[in-house]
Amino acid sequence: MMGNTPQGGIENIVADTALSIQDLTVRFHLKRGILTAVDHISFDIARGETFGLVGESGSGKTVTARAIMRLLPTPPAEIASGRVVLDDQSVYDLSSEELRAIRGRKIAMVFQEPMSALNPVFTVGAQMTDVLRTNLKMSRAEARERAVELLQLVGIPSAGSRLGSYVHEFSGGMRQRVMLAMALSCNPGFLIADEPTTALDVTIQATILELIDSMIHRLGMSLLFITHNLGVVAHSCDRIGVMYASHLVETGTTRAIFANPQHPYTVGLLESIPRLADQKRYLTPIPGTVCNMLEPPQGCKFHPRCPHAMDVCREQAPPLREVAPGHLAACHLHAMATV
Ligand code: SF4
Repeated sequence: MMGNTPQGGIENIVADTALSIQDLTVRFHLKRGILTAVDHISFDIARGETFGLVGESGSGKTVTARAIMRLLPTPPAEIASGRVVLDDQSVYDLSSEELRAIRGRKIAMVFQEPMSALNPVFTVGAQMTDVLRTNLKMSRAEARERAVELLQLVGIPSAGSRLGSYVHEFSGGMRQRVMLAMALSCNPGFLIADEPTTALDVTIQATILELIDSMIHRLGMSLLFITHNLGVVAHSCDRIGVMYASHLVETGTTRAIFANPQHPYTVGLLESIPRLADQKRYLTPIPGTVCNMLEPPQGCKFHPRCPHAMDVCREQAPPLREVAPGHLAACHLHAMATV
């Protein structure tokens, strides 16, 4: 299991690290001002590990994923600090050609909305075989055979005949399966899944989550799973990182985060998950809303919503500290506990 570096720190990469995010800061230069969407975050994901990045909308999760893939438009986005290392390669030092070579083959991404990632004017078969022929230099016949295998792998019935279908001819769940098949087509070692079930009916969500889980384990991949729902990562991720208002505020094993959350925001997220076994308990929402990221509060960005806020919280941003082996939290309460 990998450790995390405190925010702002850069450490040597341990041998079995698949992906290392080091001191990453992403800003957007907007007409209304400068918005810091990701603020000095660092975490590592080991080979074969599944890591869930959790937080409310606007916390910086998707920007982090897109920064890893170098999919952010620059401008208005700017990588203001840090680096992303994938399999010992610094992603931001790659040429456009080198970047194209690792996308799909080393790292692939499944998006929240398949329609934004799949081309509506080409058949699914044309899109899949194009990827296979370009990246793996397969012949037309080999690419077609592999595309059928991939669609079968993700559970598309009558895969051979569905190659001639367009994206709009698939249901939402089937589109997400197609996108997963495309993401897996070049055998990447690392998959990023960005809210892959949010746009789906609840009944389909569990099926897609199980499918991603089984693919990851079957193919021995590493996974960065992005979601606003802590409950979703409970069974599928080895470790969790919690983001709030552009900061990584807590990270640790899934077991530790659920059994002993150390940041008041994580506690709030956990209390807002419905539990079947406790039907009498009312859900406790986190009061207030995420701060305006163009004018964030001083100090700890969670202080306007935190039931434990103290004077120091309004003045100083708490650093990420280790509160137990492999378990880090950014909260002044822990500094007080250790003095
Ligand atoms: Fe709450 Fe202060 Fe901890 Fe922020 S630093 S989470 S305001 S106690």
